[in-house]
Amino acid sequence: MRTAICPGSFDPVTYGHLDIIGRAALIFDRLIVAVSYNPGKNPLFSIDERIQLLQGVLSNYPNIEVKAFSGLTVDAAIECKAKAIIRGLRVVSDFENEFRMALTNQKLACHIETVFLMTKAEYSFISSTTVKEVASFGGSLRSLVPPLVEEKLREKFKRCHED
Ligand code: ADP
Repeated sequence: MRTAICPGSFDPVTYGHLDIIGRAALIFDRLIVAVSYNPGKNPLFSIDERIQLLQGVLSNYPNIEVKAFSGLTVDAAIECKAKAIIRGLRVVSDFENEFRMALTNQKLACHIETVFLMTKAEYSFISSTTVKEVASFGGSLRSLVPPLVEEKLREKFKRCHED
């Protein structure tokens, strides 16, 4: 059984994430989508909300599980018995940080490989940050996130505007 872990903040999950997750789920027998608490990044959605959104949009994949994690990614990988950490690459500027993280993780746990999947061209510009910015100004989210996520973003920003 080959298990991989796909770590991230997923604040919120976008079509870019889903592309990487879906492709990784075809390569590995079991894929754990590991959602980091990341309080330092001041997330818009709570950890439970992010997990619920991921579970909602990934319900058709029998080999995907969604879990919360805190601490080191390699520790989460070891706990899940994962052989690989999946990361997506969008633009050249992703590379430096991802390379640094992959080398650090290799030092920490040399038996776990980092596997990079290149984004599809049509998703290369999508990030959770861009999605939140568009949502905050009431722009169309149709090509960026699934309808369930769009609905939750609308609710969030409606509440923010009312406050
Ligand atoms: P993190 O804060 O750990 O970078 P993110 O939720 O921003 O978490 O991203 C999780 C993973 O998804 C990362 O590997 C990131 O590169 C990848 N990713 C995010 N958006 C895209 C996209 N549009 N195309 C491909 N990969 C993406």
